Amino acid sequence: MKISELFFSIQGEGKRSGLPSFFIRTNHCNLRCRFSGGNLCDTAYTSWFPDDKNNLGEADISEVIGDYKKYFSKDIVITGGEPAMYGDEIEKLCMGLKQLNPECFITLETNGTYSGDFLKLIDLISISPKLKSSVPFETEFEKMHERNRINVNALMEICRLSENKICDVQWKFVFTGDDDINEISKLQKTIGFKNEDVYLMPEGITKKEIDSKRLRVIEVCLKNNFNFTDRLHILAWGNKRGI
Ligand code: SF4
Repeated sequence: MKISELFFSIQGEGKRSGLPSFFIRTNHCNLRCRFSGGNLCDTAYTSWFPDDKNNLGEADISEVIGDYKKYFSKDIVITGGEPAMYGDEIEKLCMGLKQLNPECFITLETNGTYSGDFLKLIDLISISPKLKSSVPFETEFEKMHERNRINVNALMEICRLSENKICDVQWKFVFTGDDDINEISKLQKTIGFKNEDVYLMPEGITKKEIDSKRLRVIEVCLKNNFNFTDRLHILAWGNKRGI
């Protein structure tokens, strides 16, 4: 499993916002988001420009768990890149973390394009399906991204895990405009997830951008009976690594 960084910070998005958490950020992603406003993915160093030299590279699971021991927080967030690319290793990692701290609460942040048994060890699957507004038009990645960004079977499997109370889920979407709402509604009809599990967040990699879009996103949430989530880490620190 390639690791980009390990760090201790607050969860910035979704239903566990504000909680102190140990972050395990894997490197590499199977998608290449570039949002309609022009911003690349906010962790482009794990997707567009994965940097294997200046990070932890092929970190051993025991090394990751050893780092977690320094903080021993209840919340652990496995994020990326796309961590679900490494399903078998994620399974071993979660088993090791739960053995060390049975009280820990593991969130997996994923784009929802992979499924498998490893998901049963996760407490909260935070799925962020990538909408049309994420397609990097006129780049070499356009077709690959468009083909892979929605995996209906994987999303349905994740939805079933939550219906069967095996784990909790939240569906997080970057809101860029009204077309996103039409796409989310269609996805909801196909997959069957509930409004109460949907979180919309403003798109942006700076405080200024998020501040300028927040009110509009809140209004859209109220109109559609969705939850709003801010992006606290960006508001506090900007678009930096290791936060
Ligand atoms: S799926 Fe996530 S990590 Fe991958 S390119 Fe998109 S925003 Fe970045």
